[in-house]
Amino acid sequence: MRVGFTGLGAMGAHMARNLHRAGLLAGVWNRTAEKARALAAELGTRAAESPEDLARGLDAVVICVSADQDVLEVVNALAPGLAPGALVLDCSTVSAETARRGAEIAHSRGAEFLDCPVSGGVEGARDGTLAIMVGGSPEAFARAQPILNAMGRTITHFGPTGSGQAAKATNQIMCAGIIETVAEAMAFARAQGLPLDKLIDTLGKGAGSSWYFVHRAPNMVRGAYPAGFRVRLHAKDLAICRDMAARFGVTLPVVERMLGEYAELVSRGFGDEDISATFRLKSEMFDRSARPAREP
Ligand code: NAP
Repeated sequence: MRVGFTGLGAMGAHMARNLHRAGLLAGVWNRTAEKARALAAELGTRAAESPEDLARGLDAVVICVSADQDVLEVVNALAPGLAPGALVLDCSTVSAETARRGAEIAHSRGAEFLDCPVSGGVEGARDGTLAIMVGGSPEAFARAQPILNAMGRTITHFGPTGSGQAAKATNQIMCAGIIETVAEAMAFARAQGLPLDKLIDTLGKGAGSSWYFVHRAPNMVRGAYPAGFRVRLHAKDLAICRDMAARFGVTLPVVERMLGEYAELVSRGFGDEDISATFRLKSEMFDRSARPAREP
């Protein structure tokens, strides 16, 4: 199989390297051409002139760009180069509706489209251990196995086009509720005067624990929030969840609350911090209170 990669950002550059290690990578394209030239030189592969040039003659193209409009721009730009039967795998986090529009464009060229959003962060992309949630035809999913296996470890087909993005959106809603709860609980614990490191060690083994509590509550103790998962990116994902729920006439309270908190963090210049920075807002509730942090 000969595979092209487009979108060589924090995630994509690692994923392209893993395709190269698996002997699948046949070329790269990136909007900022210098990144494509540098990676092509590192891996001894081809830096294409355009998305169309990248797609020409290849069996598959993987996309990992930022947001909905970016995916549609890239799929439109790839389309003239896609051979009938070629696979387009979009690993960006976008809406299910965008996945369906991307699939229409690919189908108009006789190509196949899979929505394949990923979870596991930059570390998972680097180590090839991503969880990949896939939507599209079972036949395309079967053909894409070598590509998906090169980039991830837990690979699940959820159903028709858009199902992968729906599964990813589900994950993003859970992350919102959990990080908010962890931040609120930690602000409460700090106000009680509890020894916070001990608290993380102990409650980390309890029923209320979570990955976010164990791995991100320490950020809250230190007051440092290195990304991680940027506030700005999670806000983009939650806006997708909001739109997907709105199609059912439903407003999701957890999503709305976190979008509000993230808007506040972004407006105060914290948009590129990890989402554990929501502790800033939760601890301020106690800082503003007239009552002493500790009862006499
Ligand atoms: P990133 O570092 O900001 O990289 C974005 C990439 O997309 C860059 O290569 C950028 O090109 C390209 N791009 C953006 N808009 C484009 C357009 N209109 N046309 C062509 N190329 C365009 O982002 P990332 O962290 O790799 O994330 C990529 C996707 O994965 C996002 O949808 C994100 O939500 C998702 N994701 C991220 C993580 C994470 O931990 N970072 C985890 C899971 C999923 P330039 O180089 O020219 O800017």
